[in-house]
Amino acid sequence: MPRTFTPATICTQVTVPLRFADGYATTARVFTFSGLADRREHVAFGLGRWAAADALDDRPGQLPLVRPHSECLTGDVFGSQRCDCGPQVREAVERIAEAGGFLLYLRQEGRGIGLYAKLDAYSLQDAGLDTYEANIALGHAEDERDYTVAAQMLHALGLRRVALLSNNPDKAAQLSRLGVTVAERVPTRVHLSPANLGYLATKARRGAHTLDVPLATEASADQAAW
Ligand SMILES: [Zn+2]
Repeated sequence: MPRTFTPATICTQVTVPLRFADGYATTARVFTFSGLADRREHVAFGLGRWAAADALDDRPGQLPLVRPHSECLTGDVFGSQRCDCGPQVREAVERIAEAGGFLLYLRQEGRGIGLYAKLDAYSLQDAGLDTYEANIALGHAEDERDYTVAAQMLHALGLRRVALLSNNPDKAAQLSRLGVTVAERVPTRVHLSPANLGYLATKARRGAHTLDVPLATEASADQAAW
């Protein structure tokens, strides 16, 4: 039984040329919305054939590749090595531009707990807790992200069937319950660095993410990284 929510509508759409630090460049059609459930300023980036100004009228027939990406100020903007968010968003933009689809940039910093709490959690991790234990120690759930706004954005864009670029089974399950058919799941690559190996191994173990992280190095990486 799909969960219900009030519909959101598109407010503005505007073309924004993108260029990343490594020189990769593409063009996005950026969409804003009104009526999103949590009133935050989430944005959708239409890429590839969906970057065209008339894409919503033309309705490119192919299944759009969609990635909901949760905001990570430290990783997305400053290249933090404690997580893989920066490389993930960079990879997602290029793959979606190739396939055609949308990156949904969700303002859910720190798995929904906020930037300050995320930094508090890093501090606890430095004292020996893993990323999930630290969130719980701070009084938060392991993962507080709710994808209602992602479903609202997809509905507003007229997209009921998508290919989902994600390793996170919870995203697919939530979107399905919210009336978005995930016709295909496309895994993202693993972006390992010495500082994020423990984090990624914990995600794979605790969050049931489909990541191919070398488990033999997990214990030593947890110690080395945190
Ligand atoms: Zn991050």
